[in-house]
Amino acid sequence: MLNTTRLLASVPSGLWIDGASTEPVDGGSFPVHNPATGEVLTEVSDASPKDALRALDSACAVQAEWAATAPRTRSAILRRAWELLIERTEDFAMLMTLEMGKALSESRGELNYGAEFLRWFSEEAVRIQGRYTEAPNGNGRILVTKEPVGPCLAITPWNFPLAMGTRKIGPALAAGCTMIVKPSADTPLTMLLLAQVFADAGLPAGVLSVLPSSHSSALSDQLISDARLRKVTFTGSTRVGSVLISESAPNVQRTSMELGGNAPFIVFDDADLDAAVEGAMAAKMRNGGEACTAANRLFVHNSIRAEFTARLTARIAALKVGPGYEPDINVGPLINGRQRDSVAELVADAVAAGATVLTGGRPLDGPGFFYAPTVLTDVPSSARIAHEEIFGPVAPIFGFDTEEEAIALANNTEFGLAAYFYTKDIDRVFRVSRALEAGMVGVNRGVISDPAAPFGGVKASGLGSEGGTEGIEEYLNTKYVAFT
Ligand code: NAD
Repeated sequence: MLNTTRLLASVPSGLWIDGASTEPVDGGSFPVHNPATGEVLTEVSDASPKDALRALDSACAVQAEWAATAPRTRSAILRRAWELLIERTEDFAMLMTLEMGKALSESRGELNYGAEFLRWFSEEAVRIQGRYTEAPNGNGRILVTKEPVGPCLAITPWNFPLAMGTRKIGPALAAGCTMIVKPSADTPLTMLLLAQVFADAGLPAGVLSVLPSSHSSALSDQLISDARLRKVTFTGSTRVGSVLISESAPNVQRTSMELGGNAPFIVFDDADLDAAVEGAMAAKMRNGGEACTAANRLFVHNSIRAEFTARLTARIAALKVGPGYEPDINVGPLINGRQRDSVAELVADAVAAGATVLTGGRPLDGPGFFYAPTVLTDVPSSARIAHEEIFGPVAPIFGFDTEEEAIALANNTEFGLAAYFYTKDIDRVFRVSRALEAGMVGVNRGVISDPAAPFGGVKASGLGSEGGTEGIEEYLNTKYVAFT
């Protein structure tokens, strides 16, 4: 039996407002479940719109002072928070595995990746630039400065409980913004422990609030309808993202939207097949397939399709599925029963349309929300899985004959987040990376996320960039001062 009592007791269970764990105005709590067993791990306080208002009041009270702190001071706090996260790697990794389900090795990977946004933006905090120039017509001077946009709301999903928060909190704090985070109700514990880490790192009270809530839409309505809030940054489904964009219209708040994906993974006939199989494993099976950058549709040149399919199927069939905290597990459970049913329905629809299951193709018996890693072939283009985001460990393989056909198939989606392709032809590298309608392209690699690079999508996959030197711009307004 796993002993997690000490770890769970170290997580603040109240709402994080004004630098401390506090009770909700109206009381109330909700349970957090372990998706590997379906059992309740613990209860956390349930924020209502009244609590959201308290958090916004607290953010507004310190916004001007925080914006006026020396960049070096903000930088040092972010850097200290990064150090504390690294020191507590094992605690954070186990917490993410408990509430989200992923294998412990993947949780450690997320800890490093997620923490790195704090180190990266601690370095960016001291590099916020403006510019000065003489007016070209000689009748004045132009000064351009950058200022923090003000109080921000971040709404995050459950699939990367730490990283989806830090890549918003890091640039916001570096820029001098205050922030209220509403984590997913499936995975609130990681963000609550992060709030404690920031307090330990010396972050002033009120700059960061964390509000777990089972009333997502009432909470965000309360905040977005308040003109003191100046920005909404969201990671989640396109459906919710477009609701939030319309809600932000009356107050003309800035938005950053990291939404759904439907990544193509193309293997051309000149690809290094070993590398392509390895890359497909990473792009498809990382995080159990519950990633917005996950390879959703594998397009393989017909001359190598049988060979690629056989090799990939052998690798996927050998994956060890089980609770993420057990030794040598590769794939954990899906987040909840709803997600498992949604994956099962997509596979059933594909099979009914004529697809063949080469391995997996079914939910696993027993407690928890496990689905067998799956390979599908002969998938008709009419099947839902050819168009919809899977968010699970299922690899549908399609064939193609020409480069033009592969590009047309890849772009035949409303989404445009990540895309991957494998080739050894340098001319094709430039041609295809330009032709793909995606915000991010992986060439001969299956993992592309990097805190030093801009993460973001086009089309229905979103607006704006997170990470890189671009990431902090999302939290800065540009001011032009004209003088003689
Ligand atoms: P979701 O949209 O259901 O929920 C995301 C967050 O929004 C959660 O915190 C949820 O509580 C909240 N929410 C839900 N309805 C709301 C409403 N009406 N008003 C305000 N908040 C609301 O998405 P999910 O199922 O948690 O996450 C999976 C989705 O996230 C997938 O589509 C995936 O592609 C996307 N995603 C995108 C990225 C990216 O960077 N582009 C990264 C990870 C996940």
